[in-house]
Amino acid sequence: MKEKKYADVIIDISHEKVDRTFQYKIPEALRETVLVGTSVMVPFGRGNRLSAGYVVEITDQAEFDEEKMKEIYSLSKQKVSPSEDALKLAVFLKETYGSTMIAALKTVLPVKREVKAKEKKTIVRQMTGEEIRSLLAESIRKHQTGKTRFLAALTEEKKLPYELVTGKLHIAPSTIKSLISQQVITVETESYYRNPVRLEAGRREEKKLSNEQQAIVDTVIADRDAEICKTYLIHGITGSGKTEVYLSLIEETVKRGRQCIMLIPEIALTYQTLLRFYKRFGDRVSVLNSSLSEGERYDQCERARKGEIDVIIGPRSALFVPFEKLGMIVIDEEHEPSYKSETMPRYHARETAEYLASLKGASLVLGSATPSLEAYSRAKKGEYELFTLTRRLTGGRLADVSVVDLRKELKEGNRSIFSRKLQELIEDRLSRKEQIMLFLNRRGYAGFVSCRSCGLVMKCPHCDVSLSQHRGGKLVCHYCGYEMQEPKKCPSCGSPYILGFKAGTQQIEDQIRKRFPGAGVLRMDADTTRRKGSYEEILSSFAGEEADILLGTQMIVKGHDFPKVTLMGVLAADLSLNDSDYHCGERTFQLLTQAAGRAGRGVRKGEVVIQTYQPDHYSITLAANQDYEAFYEEEMGYRELMGYPPAEHLLAILFTSKEEGQALSAAEETGRILRNYQEESGRSDGSVIGPSKAAVSKINDIYRFVIYCKEKDYQKLLIYKELTENYRKNLPGNSAFVQFDFDPVNIY
Ligand code: ADP
Ligand code: ZN
Ligand code: ZN
Repeated sequence: MKEKKYADVIIDISHEKVDRTFQYKIPEALRETVLVGTSVMVPFGRGNRLSAGYVVEITDQAEFDEEKMKEIYSLSKQKVSPSEDALKLAVFLKETYGSTMIAALKTVLPVKREVKAKEKKTIVRQMTGEEIRSLLAESIRKHQTGKTRFLAALTEEKKLPYELVTGKLHIAPSTIKSLISQQVITVETESYYRNPVRLEAGRREEKKLSNEQQAIVDTVIADRDAEICKTYLIHGITGSGKTEVYLSLIEETVKRGRQCIMLIPEIALTYQTLLRFYKRFGDRVSVLNSSLSEGERYDQCERARKGEIDVIIGPRSALFVPFEKLGMIVIDEEHEPSYKSETMPRYHARETAEYLASLKGASLVLGSATPSLEAYSRAKKGEYELFTLTRRLTGGRLADVSVVDLRKELKEGNRSIFSRKLQELIEDRLSRKEQIMLFLNRRGYAGFVSCRSCGLVMKCPHCDVSLSQHRGGKLVCHYCGYEMQEPKKCPSCGSPYILGFKAGTQQIEDQIRKRFPGAGVLRMDADTTRRKGSYEEILSSFAGEEADILLGTQMIVKGHDFPKVTLMGVLAADLSLNDSDYHCGERTFQLLTQAAGRAGRGVRKGEVVIQTYQPDHYSITLAANQDYEAFYEEEMGYRELMGYPPAEHLLAILFTSKEEGQALSAAEETGRILRNYQEESGRSDGSVIGPSKAAVSKINDIYRFVIYCKEKDYQKLLIYKELTENYRKNLPGNSAFVQFDFDPVNIY
C-alpha cells in the first residue's frame, strides 16, 4: 500500500492567482482521517495564516523539497467535506465553465457549514402520581404559584413538552432545575430534522395515464431496467400531462431503490406543484429552495445522504444534493434561463445534469412546452430521445389569439397604450365580471429605439441585434461595441415618432385606473414583490377575485391557473423581442406561448390580444398559431446565419478591474493573442469579437470589458480559455480579474 504522506490542498480563497493546489505534509496523527475531500486548516502564505482548504489529492510523492513543505495543521471543524462525486462534479464545472476550483467546490456543496441538529426537549415525570400530589399539597401551602401550576400539570401528564412548560405554563428555568435536582423530573432530548414543508398531503392521488403518457413511462423505465442511461425530451403544451408523467417515472425509479432529483424553476415552485408530489411520495420527498434557512438546507442534505428521502424538488442548485443511488434527474421547463447560473462557475443545469447522470448511471428527463433550441436540436440529431404530448388533458380549449398592429393604431389616431380592440374586450370582461391579465414582457435592460410609424428597430449592422440606448444620445451594440448617434427621424420612413420604449408597470397601472375607473387592479413586478410572501399574497387575492385586472411582468405568466381569466393582453410584445441579445426571438416566443396558455383555463373560452409594432415577426405570428415546429425552423435559420448557439458556440470573456486601463489592456492583449492563434492555426470558421465595453460597463466602480468568441467546436473555445488563463498567470503587474461564460444566456 502507498503511504499517505502528502496532500494537495485547494485554499479557500476565490482568486485566480491562488487557483492551484499546494502540497502539504500530512502529520502522522492525521494519516487515517485525512481523505480526498476532507476540509482542513493549513498555514498559508508568507505569514502562515491559518486558512481553510480542501484536500483534492493524496500521494506518496513529494513535489518539492520536503524540508520546506508545511504541514496540515488540523481538520476543519466547521466545514462540510465534499464527497468524491462532488469533487468530480467540481472538476467538471471548473473545466467546462472556466472557474476557479474553489468556486466550483463551493457550488457543489449545497451547504458550506455543519449546522447543529435541532432538538426537541420533553419533561418526564420520575415519581408516582401520589408522590407528586403530596409535593403539590406542600407547594400550595407555601404559596409557590409557579411550582403549583407545574406540579398540577404533572399529576395529569407523565410527559410534557419543554416548550409548553416554559411557554404556556410560564415556569421559570430555576424551578425546573430544582425539580430536576430533587429527581422529580428529567429532561429528555431528542434531535430531529428541520422540515421546511408542512403540508397535509391527504389522500394519495394517481391518474390512469393516457396511452401517450404511458408509452413514455414504459420506454424510459424499460431503458432503466436495461441500464441504458439516456436523455429524453418531452415536448408538450401546458396541461398536456407532463407532470403526471414525471410523477410516474419517479415512482417507478424509487420502486427500484433509486433516488430522484426534480428540478423546477424557483418561480414555478408553487404550493400546488409541491402538493402533488407530497400526495404521491409523502415524507419521502423534500424541497430545497432559497427560502430555506441554512439549518433546513443542511438537514435536507443529511436526510438525502442517509437515504431517508427519495425525491428532492428544487431549482438548479438541487442538482448537488448528495444522493448515493441517484437514478433519475427530471428538469421541468427545461428552456428557462434560470437554469444557467449567473455567478461563477456559470454552469448550465441541463449540461451539468447530463454529466451527473452519466457519473451515477441515471436517466435524464427534460420537459417543456417550448423546448430550448439547444435541447430540441439535440433531439433532432438523435442525441436525445424525443416524445411529444399532443393533447390538453384539462379540458378548457386553447384560446383565440389575435395580433394587433400598433402602427395602424397610431396612424388612425389612437395614441393610448391600449389598442381599440383591447379596450373593447377589457370593458366586455369587466361587465361580465370575468378576470383579465395584462402582461408587460420587459426584462429591465436599457431600452431599444424603434419607429412607431413603420416599426423599424435600430439594429447593429454586424450582429443583427437591437442597439441599446445609452446616455448622451448614443446607440450601442452589446456584442461588438458598434456605436452610432441616435437618429431624430426614422431612417426608413422619415417619421419623427422614433423613440425609446420606456413605459413601466407603474405608469401603466396609472393609465388603467384612469381609463377603467371602476376596475380593481393588482400589480405584480419586482417592486411589489420585494417583501417575503407578497408574491403569494397577490396571486391569492387575484385567485379570490378581489381584483378584476392583474397587471405584471413575466411573473404572472408562469403556470398559475385562474379559471376566471378569459382575457390576456400582451401590451407590447416588442419589449422582449428587441432585447439587445440573440435569444430575444426565442424568449418572446416562449413568453407569448405561455401567456396564451393563461387565458381560458376554465369552462369559458379565452381570448388573447398581442399588441406589437412588428405584427409580421415570426416569433409573434408563430406563437399566435402555437406552432413550435415552424418557429424552431425559422429561429434555427437565424442562428445558423449569424453563428449563434446552438448553431455555433459562444464564449464571453469578461475582464474586470478597479483600474479601467488595466482591464482594457488585459482585454486588448488577450484579443491579440486569440486572433494570433486563430491566424496561425489557419482557421477561418470562428471569430473573436471585441473587446468592447460591457453593457453594464461599470459596477461598484469596477470597470468591465468583454470579448466574444464564436466557434463551431466547443473544444476550440476551451483552447481560448486556456490561452487566456496562461496569459493572465504570467502577468503579475495587472490587477484585472478574468471570468468566462460559455454560451451565455445574458449579455455583458
Ligand atoms: P403539464 O405538466 O404538462 O402542464 P399536468 O401533468 O399538470 O400537465 O396535467 C394537466 C392536468 O391534467 C392536471 O390537472 C392533471 O391532474 C391532469 N391530468 C394529467 N394526466 C391525466 C390523466 N392521465 N388523466 C386525467 N387527468 C390527467
Ligand atoms: Zn419609420
Ligand atoms: Zn454588433
